[in-house]
Amino acid sequence: MDKRKTTKEAFIRNDQYNFIARQVSHIINAHASVNHKDTLDGVKLHAFSKVEEILPEMNEVQETLLNRLLEIEEEIEAEAFLSELRQYVIPFRRVSKKTVEKLFPKAKKLQVPDIDGMDFKRLSYIGWFDTRAHKQHLIVEYQGKLKGISGVFDNSSTQGICTLCNSLDEVGLFVTRVKSGKETYVNRGNYICKDSQACNEKLTDRRKIETFLDYLFQ
Ligand SMILES: [Zn+2]
Repeated sequence: MDKRKTTKEAFIRNDQYNFIARQVSHIINAHASVNHKDTLDGVKLHAFSKVEEILPEMNEVQETLLNRLLEIEEEIEAEAFLSELRQYVIPFRRVSKKTVEKLFPKAKKLQVPDIDGMDFKRLSYIGWFDTRAHKQHLIVEYQGKLKGISGVFDNSSTQGICTLCNSLDEVGLFVTRVKSGKETYVNRGNYICKDSQACNEKLTDRRKIETFLDYLFQ
């Protein structure tokens, strides 16, 4: 086996990358405000143990890479570390324009976003607002499959907590119609970020997406 290939193998999801980046920012903030070495070491070890919690099955190479977290002191080191870490991010499943159209068979004249311009490594889901249909479209991976979900979306400016990334931001109420029985339907939804790309960059726990989908399709 090619050893170099093994070492560069992607092993972090976008949400886990965001989680690690958040830990790194805690460390940087501590360095800027705390002088006591023991306290700083404590912050670093705590940050590292949190990373270990979300990545319990790291191999030696991966652990060595993430151990560098313990050496970060300055912003510039944090940036270098995070940019290296990005190489190990598992991209969201590649979709083409055709795939997108297939995922929304009921949509008439679907507005497809600029798929080629997307950084798939920074995505846990794909979301965009269809200005023609006044709908928000989401592409998610659910139970091992790609799924397209369209929902009416209240696009007026509201500040709130997003169900997916749990941050306070501009959100909209996303409501989709799902089958509840043989021939019955029900509307279900919740508040999600208006800006899906920004949401993807803040999302630190993919389970939040799964919980949301479980709720929609219960
Ligand atoms: Zn969000």
